[in-house]
Amino acid sequence: MPFKKNPPAYTVWASMKDRCRNPNNPAWANYGGRGIGYCSQWERYSNWAADMLPRLPGFSLERIDNNAGYSPCNCYWADKKTQQRNQRRAVFVEIEGVRHRAIELAERFGVKTDTIVARAAKGMSFAEVTFQGRYVDISGVPAAVAARVAAQRARTHCKRGHELTDANTYITKQGWRNCRKCHAEKAARQRKAKARDA
Ligand SMILES: [Zn+2]
Repeated sequence: MPFKKNPPAYTVWASMKDRCRNPNNPAWANYGGRGIGYCSQWERYSNWAADMLPRLPGFSLERIDNNAGYSPCNCYWADKKTQQRNQRRAVFVEIEGVRHRAIELAERFGVKTDTIVARAAKGMSFAEVTFQGRYVDISGVPAAVAARVAAQRARTHCKRGHELTDANTYITKQGWRNCRKCHAEKAARQRKAKARDA
């Protein structure tokens, strides 16, 4: 959401209303779309202004309880740091039809919040979104293949019994996680065959 450094108070009020009332607002999902509204007196700018103005330059309109609407007792002016922290906390993602707070998944699985958001936006499964470690984008891969890739990635040993640690694996462009030992053995076999033929 682009945020002007210091929008006029009237714009702050109008944006608040739009987020809560207009399904075409880009932020709708986090406001009106989940039942966030504003108190009826604030329909009029003069009432809102009487309750909330003045404000310090650069401060933004924030809510104490993120699940409650805009009202005199739930609103305050926040400085930039507080505002940014609130914004990060207010980012939700939908994975397999379930809403999650992105920052909570990030903390729980040790994956960056931005990564969680980007993966969820691609419609990945919960296991894929919270996958900790090296990861190659497989969003362009058909779902059936993506499922096989995810299953293959979950394995702890290759079919020859080598342990699939981070150090012993590499990920192909298509997203497959391959065993380095097997790869080296195969290369050695091919070198031998070549030498024999020569
Ligand atoms: Zn192997």
